[in-house]
Amino acid sequence: MHIWFTENQTEDVSLGLRVQSVLWHENTAYQELAVLDTAAYGRMLTLDGAVQTTIADEFVYHEMITHVPLSLHLNPKKVAVIGGGDGGSIREILKHPSVEEAHLIEIDDKVVAAAKRFFPEISVSLDHDKAFVHYTDGIAWVKEASNYDVIIVDSTDPVGPAEGLFKPEFYQSIFNALGEHGIMVAQSESPFLHPHLVQRVFHGVRSAFPTTRLYLASVPTYPSGLWSFTMGVKGEMATQVRPELFDMITRYWTPKLQQSCFILPRFIEDLVR
Ligand code: SAM
Repeated sequence: MHIWFTENQTEDVSLGLRVQSVLWHENTAYQELAVLDTAAYGRMLTLDGAVQTTIADEFVYHEMITHVPLSLHLNPKKVAVIGGGDGGSIREILKHPSVEEAHLIEIDDKVVAAAKRFFPEISVSLDHDKAFVHYTDGIAWVKEASNYDVIIVDSTDPVGPAEGLFKPEFYQSIFNALGEHGIMVAQSESPFLHPHLVQRVFHGVRSAFPTTRLYLASVPTYPSGLWSFTMGVKGEMATQVRPELFDMITRYWTPKLQQSCFILPRFIEDLVR
């Protein structure tokens, strides 16, 4: 018998994955959480029916949402991830020798618990002595935060508790929470299937930051497979990748990709013009 998971990514597009077994399912205080073992991509975390991460392609998203801003910062020491309860972003941040503190601000402790139980290879660094996990709403947290070097918005789609993570006021609070040369990055959805969201995040970040850049990566299990990230930069950026980062162990990010990911196809340039 074949059992299929279907994510309705828009009213007209869905992704289907053959499921070998359902490992976990619960309704948390915030969302419906499931862990499925898929034939094509291995173990997969879904929230409210939307793919969050899979064993086979998580490295793309987690490396690109972290190494791109951390390489551009002059000396990243204090970093925060808003959302990101699977722990993949924290794992990548702690590969940077300059980082002294990596804070995870996750609203739903059940996501972290599921990640520790079913995705040890992704959540591996959550118990590191430089990792600090805070179970709270990122929108309230960021209003009290200060002097961060890099803030990463590793959120779910803009529904439910994540809705406020896509608003201009939130980007302004992040600007205030960053130090002099601080950098933020937010996952900003698919240029093919969510062009209005790409524009909304880009214009929101641009309303708060003097420099705004969009970059791309291929994440096969996210809608359309082409994913965008929007970066806001408060001050100066590094002009070259620091020598110690050339030896960092990665599978997608490379120092060369660091330059090329900002080169946009014309239709996406037009989208964020
Ligand atoms: N990589 C994923 C993606 O793009 O599909 C996102 C992964 S991560 C699991 C997203 C996390 O954001 C979820 O665990 C969710 O609980 C968390 N989240 C949503 N809204 C939040 C908020 N307001 N404050 C903090 N965390 C939030």
